Parts: sequence; structure tokens; C-alpha cells
Amino acid sequence: MKRDMNKRLNDITEKLNVEGSLSLEEYEYLIANRDEAREKLACLAVEKRKSIYGSEVFLRGLIEISSICRNDCIYCGIRRSNRNAERYRLTPEQILECADEGYELGFRTFVLQGGEDGFFTDDVLCPIIEEIKRRHPDCAVTLSLGERSRESYERLKNAGADRYLLRHETADREHYERLHPKEMSFDNRMRCLRDLKELGYQVGCGFMVGSPYQTDMTLAKDLKFIEEFKPDMCGIGPFIPHHDTPFAAHTAGTLELTTFLLSVIRLIHPPVLLPATTALGTIHPKGREMGILAGANVVMPNLSPLSVRKKYELYDNKLCTGEEAAECRKCLEARIRSIGYETVCKRGDIKKCK
Ligand code: SAH
Repeated sequence: MKRDMNKRLNDITEKLNVEGSLSLEEYEYLIANRDEAREKLACLAVEKRKSIYGSEVFLRGLIEISSICRNDCIYCGIRRSNRNAERYRLTPEQILECADEGYELGFRTFVLQGGEDGFFTDDVLCPIIEEIKRRHPDCAVTLSLGERSRESYERLKNAGADRYLLRHETADREHYERLHPKEMSFDNRMRCLRDLKELGYQVGCGFMVGSPYQTDMTLAKDLKFIEEFKPDMCGIGPFIPHHDTPFAAHTAGTLELTTFLLSVIRLIHPPVLLPATTALGTIHPKGREMGILAGANVVMPNLSPLSVRKKYELYDNKLCTGEEAAECRKCLEARIRSIGYETVCKRGDIKKCK
């Protein structure tokens, strides 16, 4: 197979590596011709990542606090309209127990993620965050609880939350509208991300790879958005159809496109904390390892109680729904070691290098 890069592709790759910035048309060209550039980009991305984070991979303990959601995102298995989804909500005590167990296992970041469940008001969440921070002051608390008011984000921040993950899902307005019901808005999603940043959170955005109606141009816009927003974290993983959603018959995103984009994102914003996601591990048995080898530096094993694991089903065949937290932890550690990296017991904050 001939994999020599043509001149334009070579120039674009070089520019990306040096400047971390391309025009929309250049991103689009790079995506369309990625087969010829992927190896080179992965090498450059790994080099950049090593120069900042060495061979360390950060662990985040994921606690899925509720599968109850008021939203109706077309792609998501726990959307409001899915009557077949089994719903659960952890009690504050269960959440604290998960964090305690995680702490024993060496986790120093806890991610509380869930559907937009009206039960979790600020009055309920703030004491939970305060108690996690009281018991484990050396840990970071990350929230991933969807769209809330600026006032709410502020209260949660004051209670001790350090980081917030809110994928933008797509930076193209029309595409956003095809993935979400009418009552959800692109502008509000973006407003949330801006508010979170202004309030001093470490902020994560992100998108699904291969979501229905995605094009090379919508992806180019995602990359441009990342370039401009400079998120501290960026979660990308393949779209995987869920059988009880209107997108059941759509095809999943691919490993090759996801790993390519991980490399590009690393080069756009070298210090970014970039997870090799569970979705990536779901579409390929070595997906997460390949994500790390493309430039990712974070993995997020599941700490949710075994009894609810299967019920937080965003997509089909989700990984690790039958394992204890300790097993998940061990399995991932071995996987990371097998490719020459090491998982570390640290908060793993972003290193601001430029
Ligand atoms: N309710 C929170 C957390 C959402 S779940 C929020 O709105 O931010 C976390 C992420 O899972 C979503 O942002 C979405 O990008 C991803 N996701 C949802 N359904 C998916 C699917 N079918 N395939 C792959 N990823 C999916």
C-alpha cells in the first residue's frame, strides 16, 4: 500500500503540528485524506503527549448517579421517550460509598455523571460534593450532569466541584438540531460551556464520532471549536446505536476515525486531558489501548454499584457492566501496562504549558 503523503497533506500536517491551528477547509481536507496522514499524526501526537505527561495515564472513577432524564436526545438510550429503559437513582449514601471504595482503589478523581434528573437539585448535590471533598480532600470532583443554570453551576462550584464535562455534541447548529428534540438548543449548550469556563471550572467538551448526519465539514467545525474554546478536557468516542432509539438502524462510528481525531485534538491543544472512552473499548477489544497509542491520556473505569450498571445503557453492548470496580481497575491497569504506559493515583489536573 502506498502511503506517501501528497504535498498539500504534508503541509497541512506540518502546520497543525507547529501552529495547532488550521482553517475549516484544511481540517476538512485532512479528514477526507486521513488514511495517508494517520500514522504520522499519531507519532506526532504521542511525542507531544509524552513531552507533557510522560508515560502517565490518569484514572477517573465514573459514578453513574442516575438514569432518569428529562431530555430526549435522539441518540441516547436513557432518553425520556425510551419506555423500555429501566430507571434508577443512587442515594447520596450510595454515591459516597462508591467514592470511598474508589479512594481505596487509588482513584483521585470522581466523576458524577447522570441523566438530567430533577431530583438532583443544588440542595441535594451540594452536600454530596462537600462530603466527598471533606472525606477525600486530595481528590478532584468532576460533574457531568448536563445543562443547568449559571447560578446552579456557581453553587456547585462553591460546594467544591473542580471540573465539569459537557460535550457540545456537535459544533454545527443544523447538525445539533438533527440530533436533539426541538426543545433543546445549541445556543443553551454553548452558553453552559461558556458559563462553566467563566466560573473557573476545568471544562470538558466533546462529541460522538460517526453520529448520524455527521460530515467531514461538521467534524471540521468540531475541531475548530476545540481550537478556539481550548477545553481542559475533551471526550470523544464513537456513536453506537441503541436499539430502543430512533437511531437504532444507523451505523456505529469507527475505531479508525476516532483514533485519528484523538491525534488531531492532541496536536491542536497539546495539554488537553483526553480520555480513551468506554465507547471506544466497546467497538473494539483493544479500543482503549489504541486510543492511548493515538494520543489519549485518560481512562475512566466504572465505579457504579454492580446492581445498576446495566441500567445506565446509553448504547448497546456497553463494556464493563458486569464487573466489580476493583476488577475494572485491575483490568485497565494491566491493559495500560501492556502498551508501555502506567496508570497513576493522582488528581491529574491539566498541565498549563503555554
Ligand atoms: N446528561 C449528561 C451526561 C450525558 S451521557 C449530559 O447531557 O452531558 C455522556 C455522553 O454519552 C453524552 O454526552 C453523549 O455524547 C454520549 N452518548 C450518548 N448516547 C450515546 C450513544 N448512543 N453512543 C455513543 N455515545 C453516546
